Amino acid sequence: MAERTRFDLSPDELPTAWFNIMPAIVQAGLQPLPPLHPGTHEPVTPDLLAPLFPMALIEQEVSTEEWIDIPGAVLDIYRLWRTTPLYRATRLEQALQTPARIYFKYEGTSAPGSHKPNTAVAQAYYNKEAGVRRLATETGAGQWGSALAMACRFFDLECLVYMVKASYEQKPYRRVFMETFGAEVIPSPSSTTNAGKTILEAHPDSTGSLGIAISEAIEIAATNEDTNYSLGSVLNHVLLHQSVIGLEAKRQMELAGERPDVVVGCVGGGSNYSGLAYPFMADRLRGVSPDMRFLATEPAACPTLTKGRFAWDFGDTGKMTPLLPMYTLGHDFVPAPVHAGGLRYHGDAPSLSLLVRDGHMEAAAYSQNAVFEAALQFAHAQGIVPAPESAHAIRGAIDEAVAAREAGEERVILLGLSGHGDFDMQAYDDYLNGRLPEVEFRQEDLDESMAGVPEVSFGG
Ligand SMILES: *Cc1c(COP(=O)(O)O)cnc(C)c1O
Repeated sequence: MAERTRFDLSPDELPTAWFNIMPAIVQAGLQPLPPLHPGTHEPVTPDLLAPLFPMALIEQEVSTEEWIDIPGAVLDIYRLWRTTPLYRATRLEQALQTPARIYFKYEGTSAPGSHKPNTAVAQAYYNKEAGVRRLATETGAGQWGSALAMACRFFDLECLVYMVKASYEQKPYRRVFMETFGAEVIPSPSSTTNAGKTILEAHPDSTGSLGIAISEAIEIAATNEDTNYSLGSVLNHVLLHQSVIGLEAKRQMELAGERPDVVVGCVGGGSNYSGLAYPFMADRLRGVSPDMRFLATEPAACPTLTKGRFAWDFGDTGKMTPLLPMYTLGHDFVPAPVHAGGLRYHGDAPSLSLLVRDGHMEAAAYSQNAVFEAALQFAHAQGIVPAPESAHAIRGAIDEAVAAREAGEERVILLGLSGHGDFDMQAYDDYLNGRLPEVEFRQEDLDESMAGVPEVSFGG
């Protein structure tokens, strides 16, 4: 009989509660640090966030409950594409001649083609419940904007998206996708906000960054009563919503009769990877599987976890957000315009940063060409053209599989395939025609951007 390569859950196995890692982190003796008020450097209080987020999401942000019920209206929409498949990549294993067994959890089956609707739908729901009329947000490569545009349409909310100018120009079809769902899309930096105008005065040719676009969206939300802000990664409540990925994957790995030795994913702000990894990480933290390894991957052009510093820093360039305790390249860091737009963020989720700092998670950074080489190997074997972001995780998984071959050992690799690359043909075209420059990471740029990180010592 042919080996089984697909492990599906039935619709009634859709998780009905989200999983929060924070209790397991605290029980393991790790010490999460609070976000700080940007002015006073005191821990933030909910009232600082209230102009931007509905109370239900603020409560989730600070929740110490391990399980939070998913509202029925959100489950109904999840069912449009969830549960998502888990595959065993036997053809890739054969191509690599590896004794490793590679499994991948595929989040590309939603209409926007990534994991991002898992939180977009939840956020739109809670904002609608709170009587909000419009959501403002930023988008890098366009995946987050696409997800939020769809979610807003489902809940009859307006959607305003500041799209990083480099991507706005590189990815016109992402803009059209958002507009198809009724969103208004503005290239950032723009002259519609003070934050955007300030950047444009200093750098008229700025191609933008996620940090700048966030400042613009926050400014609109803070100055318009009927508008809230929505963030697609980094924050605890976003990671919480993404836990459906790992909860499903855990059951699917059980169906396959396997326990991963290593869980690999790509990290922009940390939401898809933590979504996959945290239900497994809880087992590591609680001593159920203390040897399970976790590998976070990122671009060499934006090496937050591998070259950044653990510090309290702003989430945006305009210094409007609370100070988050995280690995950061400095809020002024503008990464080179590599094609993995979703990974061009200067910071990372605080919980994920903590797990890396305290040795529960490893991190690796790869060059663009190494990433696209892995993407093609995967596409040729498995018939899915991965998102450039997801291809970082593939690079990591292939390296693990090759290491297993060289060590002559079986290794079970679980890979998070966060999305498809069907909108990224420009990136593939550039790679296929040898037009992808090896972006050099410049230590001078980092030293400069780190100079802007506020001096806050740990311990208060
Ligand atoms: C946005 C995005 C990412 C990076 O964001 P995370 O919050 O780190 O998950 C990764 N992969 C895809 C396909 C994305 O759209």
